[in-house]
This record gives sequence, structure tokens and C-alpha cells, in this order.
Amino acid sequence: MLKINSNYQKLPGSYLFSEIARRVQIFSQEHPDADIIRLGIGDVTLPLPEAVILAMHAAVEEMGHKETFRGYGPELGYDFLRQAILDHDYKARGVELSLDEIIVSDGAKSDCGNIGDIFDVDNVVAVCDPVYPVYVDTNAMAGRAGDYDGEKWTRLVYMPCREENGFLPQLPEPDADLIYLCYPNNPMGTVASRKELQKWVDYANAKGSVILFDSAYEAFITDPDIPHSIFEIPGAKTCAIEFRSFSKTAGFTGTRCGYTVVPKELVRQNVSLNQMWARRQSTKFNGTAYVIQRGAEAVYTAAGQAQVKANIAYYLENAATIRSGLAGAGLTVYGGENAPYIWCKTPAGLDSWSFFDQLLQKAHVVTTPGAGFGPNGEGYIRRTAFGDKVATAQAVARIAAVL
Ligand code: PLP
Repeated sequence: MLKINSNYQKLPGSYLFSEIARRVQIFSQEHPDADIIRLGIGDVTLPLPEAVILAMHAAVEEMGHKETFRGYGPELGYDFLRQAILDHDYKARGVELSLDEIIVSDGAKSDCGNIGDIFDVDNVVAVCDPVYPVYVDTNAMAGRAGDYDGEKWTRLVYMPCREENGFLPQLPEPDADLIYLCYPNNPMGTVASRKELQKWVDYANAKGSVILFDSAYEAFITDPDIPHSIFEIPGAKTCAIEFRSFSKTAGFTGTRCGYTVVPKELVRQNVSLNQMWARRQSTKFNGTAYVIQRGAEAVYTAAGQAQVKANIAYYLENAATIRSGLAGAGLTVYGGENAPYIWCKTPAGLDSWSFFDQLLQKAHVVTTPGAGFGPNGEGYIRRTAFGDKVATAQAVARIAAVL
């Protein structure tokens, strides 16, 4: 008899954003005139940079002529894009890589989710708490997470990130084979210093673990001492895989392009993980669209870089508005300086969902309750800086008035 993958039955459902949507819908039905400002979901609001649009238009034109038309491309990415990534994102930061260590995809969510294919189901997985839910759910689907007990998965090792330790995770206890790290962090907006990352690299090399490093938000780093890539840390090439995305860097959330770096030095059980990932991708994925890869390439031109930096500065200004506005209203805030997320403590006596409800009902502002990202997110809400500038300032003023 056919059997489905019963691990899917164990998933609690995407509670967080559906519950937010449900509460917002009820409120707007009851208050049809309320002008609701949504600063919950982490999606960008500025359009694609002009350089990207021009490059994509030119690529579309090429697709319309027999001489320049392109069919299936190289599954792992066109060399023109891999070279631009290699030069600008790595060589410029002193990291030497080769083209075949950069594997282009349709975004970091797919890669973070699919990377588990190359690892055994018995591996022990460590995640931060709070955490970007994709790491958890994809391991649960693969059968690597055990059972859900209503709050946590029984086979995952959770690394609590709390105020008292600067929201930084401690080394996993017990030891873990696969360790997900995300810097700059979603949802907490924190970053990791060189020293902090060295701790993880040394641990992973000593134990034979692999760090799955998600740096989807690296473009938001403003502090020159904070590394943008795990590969800036000595020893990382023998223990880490890095995920990158054009989504937040260049407004590609709806356009879809990202890449994963798997160094050739990364070998486990005498097998190259680079070759395994390349095999996995070329078997299950037929490559990112040519037009999109031309758009991504344009991000690295002088014009593209200037436009992207202006967009990031716009979002970081929003982050500063949120930080100072909420702090001025008496709230304790973290993050938002090297990241587009602000992690805000709820006022005394209010849990995440109660504060969410208060802000929705009294300020008409939608946030994200921290508890939705894991038990240690309780007592916090996440605010994103990706909104419109005027709406962001308005939302902050409304929250301050309510408090
Ligand atoms: N990684 C993190 C930490 C994210 O927050 C997100 C998107 O919100 C992603 C990855 C997904 O990025 P992409 O749009 O490239 O799939």
C-alpha cells in the first residue's frame, strides 16, 4: 500500500503568519475604516533598481531573436553571474573561491530547505531559538526533527538566544552534526563578530560538524568589523556552507535569485559536499532563468551597486526611525543597526501575542509576535524596516501615542 511521507503529518501548520492574517482580518472586518500599517512580514517595498530592469529588458530582447535566444542554461548558473559574485562578494573581501564553488539558484529559501538532501536523516541538527522557521520545518519534513511536542521538536537541539547572553547562541548541548546560523539574524537583527564566528568554525572543525550559514541579510551590515561571509573566518572552508540571496539585497523577493557556496575543501566521509550539492541541484533543478541571472549580474555594475546601496540606506533609515521611536516610547529595542529587523521587548506583563493585539487594535499597526519564532521569542515582537518611509514613521508615532 502506498505510504505518504508521514513526517508532514507531524508539522503543526504555518501557524504564525496565518494566525497574524486571521487576527488582522477580524480586526479590519470590525473596523473597516482603520488604516492598517503592515510591518510584520519581511518583504521589500522598493522597486527593482534601474540597472537591474535595464539588464532584464535587454535579456528579454535577446530571448526574442533566434540568434540570441537561450534555452536550458547551465543548471548551476551562468559563468557571467558566478564570476560577478566571486569578484564582488568574495574576492573583494579577501576570500578566494573558484567559479564551481558558487551555485546559483532561485533563492535562499529553496537552498536552505533543500540542502538537507545531501545529509543523512540520523544527523543531529542544532538551531537557534528563536529561529527562521524554514530550517526547522524542512528538517521535520525529512524526518530529522523527531516529534513536535506542542512547543519543540524532540530531536532538534535548540540553542537559546536570550537577552542575558546578547542573543548569541552557546555551543550546542549535546553536540550537533548540522548547525544552522543566520547572520545578520532574522528575527533578532543581531550580528556576529569575527571572534564569535571563529568559535563556531573551531567547534565544527573539531567535531566534524557542518555549519549551514545563512547570510541573506549581509548587505545590511554597516559596521566594518562585522564579517559578511563565514568564509572570512580562517578554517571555515572545511566546515561551512553559505547561503546568499538577492531578495533583500536588491529587491528580488518576487524575482527570485540566490546562490550557495560549497567549498571544495568541505569533505565528509571522503566525499566532496560540493560535488554532492552540484549533483543534487543539476538533477532536481534546471537553473535560474537567463533573464533573471542577467538582472542579478547588473546588481554588481557601478550603477547597480549605487542603486542597491541607496535602497539599503532607505531601509536602514527606517530601522533607525523604528529604533529611536520605540526606545523614546520607553520600549527596549535590539537589532536594526546592521539588519532590517528590530527585536523589541514587550512592555512588562504583556506576552508577544497580547502586545501584537494591543498594537493592532490601538495603533492599527501589524507586527510579528516573537513567540512565533520559538519559545525564546516569547516576550518580544519583531518589526521590519522594509516598509514605506512615511508609513514607518507614522506607525512609530502611533505606537508611541498608544504607549
Ligand atoms: N533566509 C532568511 C533568514 C530569510 O529571512 C529569508 C526570507 O525572508 C530567506 C532566507 C529567503 O530568501 P529568498 O527570498 O532568497 O528565498
